[in-house]
Amino acid sequence: MAVLVTGGAGYIGSHMVWALVDAGEEVVVLDRLSTGFRWALAPEARFYEGDIADAALLAQIFAENRIDAIIHFAGSIVVPESVADPLSYYENNTVKSRALIAAAVAAKVPHFVFSSTAAVYGTPDGTEPVSETAALRPESPYGSSKLMTEIMLRDTAAAHDFTYTALRYFNVAGADPRGRTGQSTKGATHLIKVACEAALGKRTGMEVYGTDYPTPDGTCIRDYIHVSDLANAHLKALQRMRAGGGSIVANCGYGRGFSVLEVLEKVRVASGKDFPVRFAERRPGDAVLVVADPAVAMKELGWTPEHDDLSFIVRTALDWEDHLGRRNQI
Ligand code: UDP
Repeated sequence: MAVLVTGGAGYIGSHMVWALVDAGEEVVVLDRLSTGFRWALAPEARFYEGDIADAALLAQIFAENRIDAIIHFAGSIVVPESVADPLSYYENNTVKSRALIAAAVAAKVPHFVFSSTAAVYGTPDGTEPVSETAALRPESPYGSSKLMTEIMLRDTAAAHDFTYTALRYFNVAGADPRGRTGQSTKGATHLIKVACEAALGKRTGMEVYGTDYPTPDGTCIRDYIHVSDLANAHLKALQRMRAGGGSIVANCGYGRGFSVLEVLEKVRVASGKDFPVRFAERRPGDAVLVVADPAVAMKELGWTPEHDDLSFIVRTALDWEDHLGRRNQI
């Protein structure tokens, strides 16, 4: 059987494709290459260029391959962009996911892994790690668009012979330790990516958004998870469903947090480079502390993190950034 990966040419999707290939799986990728790169794909993957809502293309893919699972990454992910243009987020993330789920049901594809996000929680209540039972209060169209897809999956699983796993990602960072792929998105705004670009002189310094938060050093705290550990959680989810496990929702994080300043220090140490940092105003919408309770992923998926080490995460991110610079693919 083969696994269909949507968005397989993107950052997390390309790591997933390599993880599947490494595990001996047959992989089919559907990507329209709006933000992803053809070169990021493992050569073993069979590639279809196109849209996840293209019913004719999906029918062709299901006819030409024996697919028993879909891992669905394709979607839009920039929170401020979703605030400015909500309907395009509901279109890309919700409406198109609905089309993909409908095609999966019609083709009797039994398993589905969905790329969800900690943004479904909005601003977590206190200072505790967030568990899956926490209130779901997305604060952006991005978070809402992902939550709506989770709800569609829940209801579809109740009505059809269909199981799903929704994985709620915390802060994904780093790159394949073997250097085969990494975060290549142009104009990415994520902290570790931005800091690595600053350390390598690809940008003239960077900003820290807010230094007056109620944390030990005044900057926000996040749970940074290595992208290969995240891909591995998907693999575990797939194996669990194939073995008869039912639908489940699981957080993907390590259960510990680092502040923005702690991250920047790791980047300075790992790169051996200092870089200018400007202390700026708070960024609208940032929560003080977002840390996962990963108990469900560990217990139910049997997931064990292998790279829970911020220095390693930063090292792999820096190596990839350096590699991109030498390839002239900023
Ligand atoms: N951040 C920052 N400067 C940057 C990018 C991010 O200070 O150039 C901060 C941001 O305000 C947040 C944390 O780093 O507190 C993580 O932000 P990121 O955008 O990486 O992920 P998010 O948690 O928003 O999904």
